[in-house]
Amino acid sequence: MPTDYETVIGLETHVQLATESKAFCADRNRFGQDPNQHISVISLGYPGTLPMLNEQQVRFAVKLGLALGCEINERSTFDRKNYFYADLPKGYQITQDENPICLGGTLPLRMEGQRSVALHHIHMEEDAGKSIHTEGEPYTKVDLNRAGTPLLEIVTEPDLRSAEEVDAFMSGMRRLVRWLEVSDGNMQEGSLRCDVNVSVRPRGQAEYGTRCEIKNMNSMKFARQAVAYEVDRQIGLLEKGEAVRQQTRQFDPATGTTSALRDKEDAHDYRYFPDPDLPPIVLTDAFINEVREEIDVLPWEAYTQLQRDFRLPAEDAHLLTEDHDTYLTFLQYAEVSPDVPALAKIWLNRLLPWLTDERLSPTELPLDPEQLAAFQELILAGDVAAATASAKLLPDLLLSPGEPFARAEELGLLQNSDADFLTEIVDTVIAEFPDKVAIYQKGKKGLIGFFMGEVMKRSKGSAEPKETQRLLRERLG
Ligand code: ADP
Ligand code: MG
Repeated sequence: MPTDYETVIGLETHVQLATESKAFCADRNRFGQDPNQHISVISLGYPGTLPMLNEQQVRFAVKLGLALGCEINERSTFDRKNYFYADLPKGYQITQDENPICLGGTLPLRMEGQRSVALHHIHMEEDAGKSIHTEGEPYTKVDLNRAGTPLLEIVTEPDLRSAEEVDAFMSGMRRLVRWLEVSDGNMQEGSLRCDVNVSVRPRGQAEYGTRCEIKNMNSMKFARQAVAYEVDRQIGLLEKGEAVRQQTRQFDPATGTTSALRDKEDAHDYRYFPDPDLPPIVLTDAFINEVREEIDVLPWEAYTQLQRDFRLPAEDAHLLTEDHDTYLTFLQYAEVSPDVPALAKIWLNRLLPWLTDERLSPTELPLDPEQLAAFQELILAGDVAAATASAKLLPDLLLSPGEPFARAEELGLLQNSDADFLTEIVDTVIAEFPDKVAIYQKGKKGLIGFFMGEVMKRSKGSAEPKETQRLLRERLG
């Protein structure tokens, strides 16, 4: 019998913080500007300059840590990680090696079973600049705008078991950092990227297998492909009786494969040591509590709440808790809505697409919660047919907000289920098409659609469909 293997994955996720200025100086922290505009003697690493800690970076780190249920380290320290590279003019990166700011914690995954991934720690560090290699140019250009921008690195335990879980982890992390407004979480722009550590072991074996680390994944799709390739490759080696070598590897999107960058033996020795320029960060309970106050509901709480309190299907709850604004705004409308599951459908099918088209945020929805509730009441009372309400009345109300009943009346959308009115039209139609009536009565029941259409035409769409159909059947015999 072939051996069954288990995949083991640990992630090192980098989140670029959305602070105003850089981690240790006043340079602006901005993406996508002209090169080398946001630099100073500190980010250029001039001798004799001194870094100064950005408080906003610490707040963001504590905020994320509290949201993830980490233990907040009341005394954390900075270390220097030494290496030489053109985009690192200081010759070292400031990071936290010995005493990171947050310990432990978990991220709940939004997938079947809702299990949580255990975190090892979160530490603060600064980013390096960017080296730009342009095809055909004999030199490499360096842009230092990014040098010294604040990052958090979230390190998981080797606790993930599949590419799907990597996906759920990364999208959960992106949702959370946006929700907390600590980062824009934009993977294409590199604000969220991860190193993926992958190993395999025969199922049932207690020890982990030897891992490979795939560097700098900034796309969920590539991360999934990289894991799939790496798992196959490692199982292939083990099946041939060969060993997996501990390596740092890179993913090639063009081929969907990974290739070795360096072996463990060639790993850098970074000569970490405490940074003498930066004193320890000592956090008071008052500070931590102040940050805690800034957090209200968390995305996974919102997700379960919508399902539990309003009986929304998981998929709807998921879509309505993708971002904080949508969730909070939806909640205001849900609180006065006569039918929240139907409201959720209106939001997802009508309002959110409309807002996207108009480039508006959910808080800018022109209809207030009471107006939308009144709109739903019209449908529930049978005053306006559901299809007409969403195809005609709602778009009109979005263009020029107003009282739904009055608007429906104005547009002639109120349904007339008044029996006499309907009976009159039904009888006229039946009288007008005796040959069709004869065919119907011989058994061609599909003709009911034809009669319905005629009644609708004459009532200018205001006939209530169910009642019309009942009357037609009755009269046609
Ligand atoms: P290092 O000190 O070499 O950086 P760490 O112990 O800090 O190694 O682990 C780095 C990352 O690799 C963590 O996310 C961890 O969960 C993951 N990891 C460690 N061992 C394994 C393994 N055998 N398989 C998969 N991932 C692993
Ligand atoms: Mg490590």
